Amino acid sequence: MSDPPPEPGKTMRALVLLAPHRYEIRQVPVPRPGPGEVLCFVRATAICGSDPKVIDGKIAGWPPGYPFIAGHEWAGQVVELGEGVTGWKPGDRVVGEPHKGCGTCQQCLSGNYNLCDNYGRPETGHRHYGFKSQGSYADYIVVGARALHRLPDSIAYAEGTMVGSAGVALHGLRLAGVEPAATGLVIGPGAIGLCAIQLLKAMGATRVICVGRAGARLNMAKQLGADAVVDVLAGQAVEEVLDLTGGRGVDISVETAAADDGPTNAIKMTRLGGKVVLIGFYTPPERTIPLQSVVLKQLTLYGVKADPNSYRQVLSYVEAGQLTLKPLLSHVFPLTDFAKALDTFVNRREGAMKVVIEAES
Ligand SMILES: [Zn+2]
Ligand SMILES: [Zn+2]
Repeated sequence: MSDPPPEPGKTMRALVLLAPHRYEIRQVPVPRPGPGEVLCFVRATAICGSDPKVIDGKIAGWPPGYPFIAGHEWAGQVVELGEGVTGWKPGDRVVGEPHKGCGTCQQCLSGNYNLCDNYGRPETGHRHYGFKSQGSYADYIVVGARALHRLPDSIAYAEGTMVGSAGVALHGLRLAGVEPAATGLVIGPGAIGLCAIQLLKAMGATRVICVGRAGARLNMAKQLGADAVVDVLAGQAVEEVLDLTGGRGVDISVETAAADDGPTNAIKMTRLGGKVVLIGFYTPPERTIPLQSVVLKQLTLYGVKADPNSYRQVLSYVEAGQLTLKPLLSHVFPLTDFAKALDTFVNRREGAMKVVIEAES
């Protein structure tokens, strides 16, 4: 059992963005849960690769304006239920999803709430926490009840913040489909890539190759199940992967690195008729890829946005011991040290991987 969450006062601490790359910790009103919403105490938030872009205001519309509170990979506890919410009680341990669709558009009705037709229109009920709506770099957050999932007692809050990273990998692999006994490839041994390695195995692949820069992350890829690792900087990565697969290429490749040559390498390393899963956040947005190879090799490319419908499965894999998130957690900071935490994450200091902001109380 866990300690009860602290009673909210009228105000709370929050990391408030004031302008591109300008933020400070301020006292702001504790948000109130509306109908269908839940007020939660934030126990932990992981810094996501997209957070520095939101903080720097590099992507149009994220945030929609200032002041703004970012943060979306969080875990915590239920504090108060809004009107009409059932199934939760104060103190329940939860992990929150970043996307909550309007619930009524064709995409939402099809389960694709990450692609909600009413994206960015809060009056329809759509929310994208930490991007378009208030996020979790604060003591409390209000979220729609359907964006919450029960966090088992066996999974720590800091670990719970990483369910979304695994969820992105799971969503991509599920979109493409992992064939029994497939050979998989993961480009980029970051948090999502390291989850993809484990999930490929859990979902039926018998062999996984990981391509990345030689170092601690590539070593961790091996520890977490990669059967072979290839140093991308050695200059022969495509040839090496082809050698490792008898010249055929892999059945399914997952590109998470977003490096300049990542998508092209994935295309070259994948077998005839194979699948290429693109998860990287590509900035700048345009890349040159060998389209003729896509056609002549009859490849299928999958774009993957976020982590819809994945939390229950990810938590189940973690509980079953088929997916471990703990090794991805490298640093923990209090909210008051956010600048140091961000610097540690962005500049990968001391081998930083997942950097988590934890509540002190
Ligand atoms: Zn994220
Ligand atoms: Zn919708």
